[in-house]
Amino acid sequence: MSLREYKKRRNFGKTTEPEAVVEKSEKGNTYVIQRHHAKHLHYDLRLEIDGVLKSWAVPKEPPLDEKTKRLAVMTEDHPLDYANFEGVIPEGQYGAGKVEIWDKGTFDAEEISDEKIIIGIQGEKLKGKYALIKLKPTARFKGGNNWLFFKTKD
Ligand code: MN
Repeated sequence: MSLREYKKRRNFGKTTEPEAVVEKSEKGNTYVIQRHHAKHLHYDLRLEIDGVLKSWAVPKEPPLDEKTKRLAVMTEDHPLDYANFEGVIPEGQYGAGKVEIWDKGTFDAEEISDEKIIIGIQGEKLKGKYALIKLKPTARFKGGNNWLFFKTKD
């Protein structure tokens, strides 16, 4: 796990976002979703895995029921401290705009691989079993960082 990409994109003299330090929370299973009103409003899903927050940008409101599936685009790993971050990233900086914590809690990992994550989420809004499945690259989505995020039967 590396925070190199996170550091590279930010100027810590200008943004109040936390600096990049790899550490572990007390329990090691932090879950958070931040509502990020950048150029495009989106939701940043973050899960503590191996001392960093693995992160996905979800363009629409995260699924609260089993009927909704959301695209989740994997983004750079974030430092653990980021789970507490709320504030306004200044104009001209990467991700400029308001960040608010939309949901927070913990998760239990049932399965974690490079292509599939099955977890139980204990948040205020999201509760129960969720899946993140990596999509195969297609003609339309060549990046290979596209995942599907959805609620499954407990
Ligand atoms: Mn974001």
